[in-house]
Amino acid sequence: METTQLLREYDIRPSFTRVSIYEYLKSHRVHPSAEDIHRALSPTIPTLSRTTVYNTLHLLVQKQLVTTLDVEEEQQRYDIPDHPHAHFKCRKCKAVYDLEDVHPSNIPQDKLNGFRVEEAKLVYYGLCPDCQQTA
Ligand SMILES: [Zn+2]
Ligand SMILES: [Zn+2]
Repeated sequence: METTQLLREYDIRPSFTRVSIYEYLKSHRVHPSAEDIHRALSPTIPTLSRTTVYNTLHLLVQKQLVTTLDVEEEQQRYDIPDHPHAHFKCRKCKAVYDLEDVHPSNIPQDKLNGFRVEEAKLVYYGLCPDCQQTA
């Protein structure tokens, strides 16, 4: 779906800035912080303030179009919850990767003893393939 249309469906006025921030998150699946987003979009939107980035992210999180990551970080990091996945944080390069196959939504119902999971936030820690090479 077009971002403009998506934002409208969630009662968000699709300003150029809002659309740009959402699309940046969607096309950069590295779980950027607000600072990262501000740095990346400033050349295209020179008037963009940090406050606007924070406010926009806050709005998108409220509307559940964007989620925050439960990863130990100095800065809050953001993601788009468009498919169920767990996260893997590399202890060395600090990158946060998506892991689809190990997400609890793939656990068979009969293993859950009658509990119905509605949401899962799962983080694995270790070394990513690149960092294992150089370890
Ligand atoms: Zn790494
Ligand atoms: Zn993710």
